Amino acid sequence: MDVFTHAIVGAIIAELALWEKSLPQRKQGRWIGAFLGAAPDLGAVPAHFVFSWTAGDWPWIYDPAHWVGVENSMWMVGYWFTHSLLFPLIAFIWFRHKEMRTWMLCAWASHAAIDILSHTGAWSTWPFYPLPGQIEGVADPWSWSPIWWLISITIALVSWYSVSVMTMQWRVNYESTDDE
Ligand SMILES: [Zn+2]
Repeated sequence: MDVFTHAIVGAIIAELALWEKSLPQRKQGRWIGAFLGAAPDLGAVPAHFVFSWTAGDWPWIYDPAHWVGVENSMWMVGYWFTHSLLFPLIAFIWFRHKEMRTWMLCAWASHAAIDILSHTGAWSTWPFYPLPGQIEGVADPWSWSPIWWLISITIALVSWYSVSVMTMQWRVNYESTDDE
């Protein structure tokens, strides 16, 4: 998915995890969730620069053609690493063991989980990297055209709105049972 959809999903996870917290804490949590939801794509930045440069373009120029035939390039390691669910899983078990909150890990891992089916070719994710098992997704909706980003962002925003209405309801119920 596109980076904004990922960020919104991260914010939704924060909204759910911090539903009973104060408004400033929830606001801060949304930003953290949004950042963590989008952050795994930063792992692809070095590969992006290198592929553009070797194709004779300026490093910051993005062109899907640069990504053809680079499936096995070692420059993809950063991408595979940040899109692996294995490390978040290990961290999750550790966090639970230490009785620490895990929603930030969930926000990070939501990215790779969504990407599994929405990435093909060079972008195919490797859910348990470095273990074998690269998965060829169904399609690359994020690289199609801005109209698809708009659709995906709209769906994400509507879901966020619904979740915030739901958690608001939770707070109202929580406070009313508190008064009794
Ligand atoms: Zn990604």
